[in-house]
Amino acid sequence: MKHIIIGAGILGAATAYSLVQQGEDVVLVDADFRGKATKAGAGIVCPWVGARKDPDLYELAKVSAIDYPALIDDLRADEAGVTGYYKCGALALANTESELEALYEEAVRKRKETDFVGDVEKLTNSEARKMFPPLQNDCSAVYVSGGARVDGDLLTQALVRAFVNRGGQLLEEEVELESRGDEVFVRTRDGVLDADQVIVSAGAWSKKLLEQVDVSIVLEPQRGQIAHLRAEGEDTKDWPVVLPQSSHYMLAFDDGRVVFGATREADSGFDYRLTAGGVQEVLDEGLAVAPGLADATLEEVRIGFRPMGPDQKPLLGKISSYSNLIVATGLGPSGLTIGPFVGKMTAKLAIDEEVGMDLTPFDPLRT
Ligand code: FAD
Repeated sequence: MKHIIIGAGILGAATAYSLVQQGEDVVLVDADFRGKATKAGAGIVCPWVGARKDPDLYELAKVSAIDYPALIDDLRADEAGVTGYYKCGALALANTESELEALYEEAVRKRKETDFVGDVEKLTNSEARKMFPPLQNDCSAVYVSGGARVDGDLLTQALVRAFVNRGGQLLEEEVELESRGDEVFVRTRDGVLDADQVIVSAGAWSKKLLEQVDVSIVLEPQRGQIAHLRAEGEDTKDWPVVLPQSSHYMLAFDDGRVVFGATREADSGFDYRLTAGGVQEVLDEGLAVAPGLADATLEEVRIGFRPMGPDQKPLLGKISSYSNLIVATGLGPSGLTIGPFVGKMTAKLAIDEEVGMDLTPFDPLRT
């Protein structure tokens, strides 16, 4: 079967890779728009503490986190190069005894469902600072060894390399959708392409594309501004992800880079700008949690548009008014965690295989 996938963020790239692994004929298209979420995403893969209250989303994040090592093994076998995935553990911070207890109980409860949560420990402030030296000195923490990080951009590049090595075709341009009867076609610079399945995984831009074939979805871009600091001379490779009691967080990569994330700006539209208030927010929140980084170099502030559906759950499914249209988007703030697994599910949908999960909560046309 022939498939065209629009959008090579983490979701489109994972779908494309999964399809070529099964011998399918695939064209992956990407326009490399500014604000691609996957390039800006922080990279926390840790559904084990302090997040995702929605049970369907937690279930999806759980199976996604568990499935990550298998994907990394596949990419290694395909000699796809560096993926940026590393199990570094996570520290969930608590300001009071009752917060510490609640975090601990949550992690222990989740560990009963899966060993992948790893070791769960309550840490004093000085124990936590041994793991993450710049940390504030007035909090305690729950440590979870199964927390991980991923560099979304590196992983996506690896997926695309493996896809191309397996014979997939990459088209680097902006495309449009057209319809005739119950079929959807893709208009490129060189003409119109047809396919057994057209998969729209164009991130926050998916709504505009689908409107071209009269399909209406609830989806908005949500701007995130995220700061990258360099802690000169620090060996940051094993620093855990840090999850404070807010929507902000931080994580380190192995080259002295520490990331402070991130703003969540609803109603931003595709306004690709750093704002004074946004940059101030991420730096203030970050330095309150890790004052030891006040002298780090501020290297870069990135901007990304999260694809936000009506809730935080993906939009995934076939569109019944057409015979060959699949929507896969709406990964919101969890896309680097769930994107690879949702990509596998999307690939199964495209070849009419059992997806292994009830897709009702992810109905792409829900409002
Ligand atoms: P995108 O990565 O946005 O990719 C969509 C692609 O579609 C783009 O490359 C674009 O060029 C292409 N495209 C669009 N229209 C067309 C067209 N007409 N023709 C051709 N190409 C087209 N998730 C986590 O799990 N953990 C985190 O710690 C985390 N942190 C985040 C921090 C920030 C600041 C942001 C912004 C996001 C974060 N996320 C995180 C969420 C995650 O990054 C996103 O959910 C995910 O990257 C979305 O991937 P995507 O493939 O759906 O979309």
